[in-house]
Amino acid sequence: MTLHWTPSGRDGAARAGTLRTAHGEVPTPVFMPVGTAGTVKAMTADAVRATGARMILGNTYHLMLRPGAERVARLGGLHRLADWRGPILTDSGGFQVMSLAALRKMDADGVTFQSHIDGSKHRLTPERSVEIQRLLGADVTMCFDECTPFPATEAQAAASMRLSMRWAARCREAFLPRDGHGLFGIVQGSTFPELRAESVAALTGIGFEGYAIGGLAVGEGQEAMFATLDATLPLLPADRPRYLMGVGTPADIIGAVRRGIDMFDCVIPTRSGRTGRAYTGRGVLNIRNAGHAEDLRPLDAECSCPACRSHSRAYLHHLFKAGEMLGPMLLTWHNIQYYQDLMARLRSAILEGRFEEEAAAIEAGWAMTEEE
Ligand SMILES: [Zn+2]
Repeated sequence: MTLHWTPSGRDGAARAGTLRTAHGEVPTPVFMPVGTAGTVKAMTADAVRATGARMILGNTYHLMLRPGAERVARLGGLHRLADWRGPILTDSGGFQVMSLAALRKMDADGVTFQSHIDGSKHRLTPERSVEIQRLLGADVTMCFDECTPFPATEAQAAASMRLSMRWAARCREAFLPRDGHGLFGIVQGSTFPELRAESVAALTGIGFEGYAIGGLAVGEGQEAMFATLDATLPLLPADRPRYLMGVGTPADIIGAVRRGIDMFDCVIPTRSGRTGRAYTGRGVLNIRNAGHAEDLRPLDAECSCPACRSHSRAYLHHLFKAGEMLGPMLLTWHNIQYYQDLMARLRSAILEGRFEEEAAAIEAGWAMTEEE
């Protein structure tokens, strides 16, 4: 049986369900911490698991350059190499090629580029991207596509989306069906509803185990992002998982779950944690602020992570001021814990038919913020 998703509850358009993969079941809605180069930065795999995270993301671009996809396969695959026993979703590499690689050259068949690490030359095509993701051992493989830059004219967005749809058909051909593994198509079309609809029609015509919404969270703003979801999600098959790529803040996630998104990934909790920004029930808090220097309260009184359970804001503030690596480690753990707790709250609320009450309660907490 291929990877599949079964619904278990609905509240309005918000959905709860279970994703069944070769490496276990994942309750949705789910937030996947980003394990860029085979590690969720500053956390051990056990620590990631301890937050309740069940699924992580790996980046094809980073792993193909270092240590290399074939080497990861020889070492037993990404699950074994990184000691992550749960499911892994890998992106296609396309987004990072466009944002990180030097001297990239795109053609109708794929993209040739130079590594940002050592300048070595590489090529990604739909077929090679799918092959790399198989070598890594991905439970969910993403179609190789072009993330349409923002802003784009309608003509640019149409040409880019149609190229991605041709590549999606090639990815489907290249994908080797295996038990508990699946391939997701990616809806493109920028903020143009007609192009999004055309993209959905093309992808559902091919048929995928799940559908991602790509090309958002690239500078269009939350209102345009939600409008695009409103126009797109009702067109997608109700029995397949929906993944909003690269999103987002807790407020973005609540709004997207409300509209029927099941899966998320974003670097915000990990990246913010490394710079001293903590997401809490009382909004965002910057632990570097001088006001925390003698504050003996925990970061977030309602959080069960080690940063909150064992330490004061004063200690965390000191760690960041002193440049100690434990500071970023503890705040990363806290932020991942906050995101996992948020997803669990949203899921319970959907199953109990009180999503809007829960969302309002969470947002009321943020409004009591002490800073920023
Ligand atoms: Zn915490």
